[in-house]
Amino acid sequence: QSQELSEAQIDYHAALQALVENGTRMVCTGRMHTDRICRFESLCYSTEAEEFIYFHSNSSVMLPNLGSRRFQPALLDLSSVEDHNTQYFNFVELPAAALKFMPKPVFVPDVALIANRFNPDNLMHVFHDDLLPIYYTMQQFSDLDLEARLFFMEGWSEGVHFDLYKLLSNKQPLLREELKTLGRLLCFTKSYVGLSKITTWYQYGFVQPQGPKANILVSGNEIRQFTKFMMQKLNISLEESSSEEYIVVFSRTINRLILNEAELILALAQEFQMKTISVSLEEHSFSDIVRLISNASMLVSMHGAQLVMSLFLPRGATVVELFPYAINPEHYTPYKTLATLPGMDLQYIAWQNTNREDTVTYPDRPWDQGGIAHLDKAEQERIIKSTEVPRHLCCRNPEWLFRAYQDTKVNIPSLIHVIRQTVKSKPGPKKQKWSGSLYPGKVRDAKCQASVQGTSEAKLAVSWQIPWNLRYLKNHTFSENIKPFTIYLVWIRCIFNKNLLGPFADVLLCRR
Ligand code: UDP
Repeated sequence: QSQELSEAQIDYHAALQALVENGTRMVCTGRMHTDRICRFESLCYSTEAEEFIYFHSNSSVMLPNLGSRRFQPALLDLSSVEDHNTQYFNFVELPAAALKFMPKPVFVPDVALIANRFNPDNLMHVFHDDLLPIYYTMQQFSDLDLEARLFFMEGWSEGVHFDLYKLLSNKQPLLREELKTLGRLLCFTKSYVGLSKITTWYQYGFVQPQGPKANILVSGNEIRQFTKFMMQKLNISLEESSSEEYIVVFSRTINRLILNEAELILALAQEFQMKTISVSLEEHSFSDIVRLISNASMLVSMHGAQLVMSLFLPRGATVVELFPYAINPEHYTPYKTLATLPGMDLQYIAWQNTNREDTVTYPDRPWDQGGIAHLDKAEQERIIKSTEVPRHLCCRNPEWLFRAYQDTKVNIPSLIHVIRQTVKSKPGPKKQKWSGSLYPGKVRDAKCQASVQGTSEAKLAVSWQIPWNLRYLKNHTFSENIKPFTIYLVWIRCIFNKNLLGPFADVLLCRR
């Protein structure tokens, strides 16, 4: 790697002189640690102390200059998971003169994006917390292009999905452990620290039970721009006119199994008169799964991280999520939220096993696979008797884990019934037409004509020109409850297609 780093040649002497003379320069966006991303020149990192270093000199800059508020609780979140206390970023400060007594700096010539992956072994976390946020952080800052290099500081090894992270830039991402092999003191010529949270749609339940984020800011369009990029990098072409329609059953092979999978596949094929295929992360390459899902009419799967792959479904497809016994689908909605994002244009269906006889529990497994043998007898009995896991916080609730890792015999008639309530004829992707909705602008030339009839009756005739980006003309006369010789303030807004709310025009004064 050190060879790779030195690929882009830099004048070492000049770089060292710039560091000593200019020190570190930091300018950030964001008002709080939870929405902050910082751009640095000459940010350094001690691989021995495992600390970032800010060097003060005559030309150094630190904006925001928070003083000790920098530690309340941190300068910024290194991962896209909001305000998680294992993901905080900060630096220690030194005078640039201290460089005389420190190891010789090794300069990183590439523009760097420095961040934490949150849970690189879980596919949902990989896409939601890392890949999408990294992709859109890179879109936000123009020098984070394909020649930028990713630095993952969370301390994990590559993990099973590292190939996906590699698609985001042309340079090999570097892990915290690997930095040690580069030198004792690393200095990033230009770097960005932190990740944009603008694309995340789910909170995992660290402070309140899990659920959709309060203020979702992403739509299907941005999700699909990202998947288009990923598919190009994976060399998968979007087949426009796919001949055959089919259903994909995404199965798990280690736990949370569908016990009658063969029967399920047959039943789906028969009911919808479609080829039905089964895939799993264990038996198929990632590319093959993406290729299959990106042309599927329906994706059927147990609740679980593999369902994040519905990101790749075509518009109009249906997602069917199966929930084990005692797990309320309304309480675990990362994939429902994804499928129902505006503009995703997916149909979402949840099915829950409500028959105790159709579930297989594993009380004797280790706690992290849902075992409950370590709990006291009364608590074990309460859990076994319970018919629904009460809402809970992340991540070690034994009742939740016990129920989440059940295997399920899917009751076919009940599942088909639920699907049929939504999918009336054949499921399948709609023709991929642009389905963006346009918000109308302000109405123009608003006028008000007040007329008085007698002493107590009056009318306000309000007219306006349509917004600049629409085609129709409207006006309206208010007569109910309008009093004569009264001043009315009128705010007019265009509502297009019932739900596209435009802005209010400037206030209009009506008087007579
Ligand atoms: N996983 C899998 N097959 C299995 C069980 C798990 O591919 O039989 C994958 C799963 O998709 C996820 C990771 O292993 O990416 C961790 O699974 P876990 O059950 O811990 O998380 P969950 O799926 O409940 O989010």
